[in-house]
Amino acid sequence: MKHLLGIKDLSPQTIEQVFTTADEFKQVLNRPIKKVPALRDTTIVNLFYENSTRTRISFELAQKRLGADTVNFAVSSSSVSKGETLIDTVQNILAMKVDIVVMRHSASGAPHFLSRHIDASIVNAGDGTNEHPTQALLDAYSIRERLGSLSGKRIAIIGDILHSRVALSNIYLLTKMGAEVAVCGPATLIPRQIEALGVRVFYDVKKALQWCEVANVLRIQLERQSKPLFSTLREYALYYGIDRALLDSLQKEIVIMHPGPINRGVELSSDVANSGQSLVLDQVENGVAVRMAVLYMVGRKETTDSGT
Ligand code: ASP
Repeated sequence: MKHLLGIKDLSPQTIEQVFTTADEFKQVLNRPIKKVPALRDTTIVNLFYENSTRTRISFELAQKRLGADTVNFAVSSSSVSKGETLIDTVQNILAMKVDIVVMRHSASGAPHFLSRHIDASIVNAGDGTNEHPTQALLDAYSIRERLGSLSGKRIAIIGDILHSRVALSNIYLLTKMGAEVAVCGPATLIPRQIEALGVRVFYDVKKALQWCEVANVLRIQLERQSKPLFSTLREYALYYGIDRALLDSLQKEIVIMHPGPINRGVELSSDVANSGQSLVLDQVENGVAVRMAVLYMVGRKETTDSGT
């Protein structure tokens, strides 16, 4: 794997390989010494043009656990504020002999654009409303771990589907791996013709929860909404928020997921987020092993290339 730009272009075999590699790294992470020297000669820069908590820390930990040299680039204190272009910024960083760029950007397609202009490997850590491939990989890995497999499982993605890169990457990945996928939210937050991606659509959250075994609940992305798409957060919570009473009314136990950050009391009530049904912290834990697997697969190719 030269880059990881999105799930769209990955084969089911490559996805399975990420999972089995992550299985190995998860064992490493549970040892007293949580490090392997697999990327000892690799330098990685984390280029985050958009805010992040989990993803940035998770990537950085994954890099350190693999023995890579890492540099963090903070856009706010960089020359980007002096008007430097993306390509110039990255070319200057690469001149310092960097092998892999982990990149988050608010513009959809930014990592794809960069991959056509530079030689280093690029790992997409979220591009605008397009894809967030490592989030989808860790989500699917966590479902596989809890339910044993993905094939034939019913997963409902609930909330702001329109603005969510997590939704799109999850849809690509889960359908490729043979799961049944549905999306659910207010009509204004569901992209038109989303059925063409092989998913079903629910507008009633209770029906979606009755249908599924796993509900992956997404944040309302107010920062990406240029016009109001529902009246108030309170009203959204009333119709689409998931609380204990709603889960109890299903008469079956489903798994609850959320990529974070959670708006407690909006998309999930606190007791649901903290309950045994919630996979939220397993997702975060698995994120490090899955990102180690991705970096190893991308970095290993680099090593082979330079050796031939
Ligand atoms: N952390 C995820 C992302 O970067 C989800 C979110 O922000 O709601 O897309």
